[in-house]
Amino acid sequence: MNVVYNFSAGPAMIPRDVLYQAKKELQNWKKSGSSVMEISHRSEEFIRVALEAEQDLRDLLKIPDSFKVLFCQGGARGQFSAIPMNLLGNSKTADYINSGYWSNCAFIEAKKYCSPQSIYIRENHNKKECLLPMRQWNVSNKSAYIHYCPNETIDGLSIYEEPFFENKIIVADFSSFILSRLINIKNYDLIYAGAQKNIGPAGITIIIIRKKLIGYSSKIAPSILDYKTISEHNSMFNTPPTFAWYLSGLVFKWLKKQGGLEEIEKLNQKKSDLLYKKIDNSEFYINKIDSKNRSQMNVVFHLINPKLNTIFLKEASKLGLKYLRGHSIVGGMRASIYNAMPLKGVKSLIKFMSYFENRYG
Ligand SMILES: *Cc1c(COP(=O)(O)O)cnc(C)c1O
Repeated sequence: MNVVYNFSAGPAMIPRDVLYQAKKELQNWKKSGSSVMEISHRSEEFIRVALEAEQDLRDLLKIPDSFKVLFCQGGARGQFSAIPMNLLGNSKTADYINSGYWSNCAFIEAKKYCSPQSIYIRENHNKKECLLPMRQWNVSNKSAYIHYCPNETIDGLSIYEEPFFENKIIVADFSSFILSRLINIKNYDLIYAGAQKNIGPAGITIIIIRKKLIGYSSKIAPSILDYKTISEHNSMFNTPPTFAWYLSGLVFKWLKKQGGLEEIEKLNQKKSDLLYKKIDNSEFYINKIDSKNRSQMNVVFHLINPKLNTIFLKEASKLGLKYLRGHSIVGGMRASIYNAMPLKGVKSLIKFMSYFENRYG
């Protein structure tokens, strides 16, 4: 089989070493004679997997004891509902920073539960798209929390600043940002992420929440979305997606082996720098995002001549460079280069882009 580099935004590439290990132990996990998929989530063996995954995640992100880690279902969109139901308390409003597609989806869902304020932060400066810095976010003093999305997976926009609002609860959708760099967890109150972007398979959602925020859910919150219920049952109130949990755990171990997030961050910087440099140095490809807000995970770019899009995708795919088509609302191309994308994959893409430009430019 030829090497394939999968640039899909999610579900996305998983480290080859992890898939290889999962394959090796698929039918006979730890000499049990069973697959890890087939054993009870209440068994001693699985509980060990679950605890180890949590500990490895805690080590990677240096999560303090004042935070609880929950493994849930329902994806990031499930959290769009869970967050207002758990955090609004008596407040009737929350601030939703609008930086792109996903943060706006969270706002729309929150409208079912309160009267949220949407704060639009996108602007144009010298023909470059950028996001207002945090100190200019016009947040209200009545809001129960501030919700924002540090990496807009579809738009290719990132916020690298860490939040510093006084006396505000900060909620952040880390779906395509988590584990891409080291952050200071204490600057946040609730971080959530679906696993299928930068962790593992779809089906599991990770929540990192300040313990003191647990226990204030609204009466109508479904038990499976109530942080208190999930927490009291160690994320096993209902049957968790055990295989996704196990596989995420393997990814955490793989990340530790790569040198942890300090090393991963350097590599992510390098990969995205190379790709943006290629785009900027050409008159054939374009990205109009200000360098301070360019996503390192989802590199969105356009061919100056969009008539060539189809042939670009077709030729790239033939060479094993797959799923580069941008999201339909943005168009053009999107190269998602999460942790599992090796530097070699990015270099292959750049080489192909040069060839294509020479051939058709
Ligand atoms: C993919 C994505 C979502 C939606 O995730 P689901 O797990 O499909 O609900 C939400 N937010 C961001 C930033 C995403 O990238």
